[in-house]
Amino acid sequence: MVILVSLIPIPLRITAASQEIDELVAYPQEDLASVIKEVGFSCTLCGKCCTRAFNGHVFLLDKDAAAVKEIDPNALEPAPFPEFCDQNGVFYVSGYALKAQEDDLGTCYFLKNGRCKVYDRRFSICRIYPYMLHREPDEHGKVDWRQVSGLGEHGEYEKEIPDDETAAIAAETKEYEEAYLRQELAFLRFMKDHFAKNNLRHVQKIYDDRLRAFHKKGTALTVEVFCDGKLEEHRMKRDDLA
Ligand code: SF4
Repeated sequence: MVILVSLIPIPLRITAASQEIDELVAYPQEDLASVIKEVGFSCTLCGKCCTRAFNGHVFLLDKDAAAVKEIDPNALEPAPFPEFCDQNGVFYVSGYALKAQEDDLGTCYFLKNGRCKVYDRRFSICRIYPYMLHREPDEHGKVDWRQVSGLGEHGEYEKEIPDDETAAIAAETKEYEEAYLRQELAFLRFMKDHFAKNNLRHVQKIYDDRLRAFHKKGTALTVEVFCDGKLEEHRMKRDDLA
């Protein structure tokens, strides 16, 4: 049976997110560095990882969203898959993502002629990719750490990476993952208070109905994006989606 995450009570989700942070912090950085060394990934500039077809959306930490607001605010959109919808039909999501271009691959807004236009200022997730540090179930349901994304599907492998570089990548990867989880935890805590103070609650039926109307009829949605400790309101039209 699949349990929708938005139906899990927020206090339970807060506890789970806090535990996940503790487990991530306890994960030895040297172990991650040794995986990075062993894999020896080297980018071949294929540009595959900068498309939604390959990687889904590019999630932005709050500091990255602030950078995008400076570079080009049109590149921002609410992160996909809002987590809550209240009884008034207002959606809530944690953070922003980068928009994609209107092509079949969903190429990143900033990728032009196969090169990143903001490479020197690229965002946290872009800097650490393809490394990650997530706990995920495998095909048998056993939950374990996953450290590399898209293994064997892009780039080259078994290249020699100096120890100081693997240590730096491992540190940056852990830093990103912790910041990501802390952002999610802050969102959940905020939403718990916001719902309680304003007499609001998540209603899955309204969530489903509004999303269906959005995709089928183009009915606009109001999405509140949690960023920097507060909500920022967006009106989403179907045409806004790449
Ligand atoms: S910002 Fe640059 S590195 Fe990041 S996904 Fe877009 S094109 Fe790729």
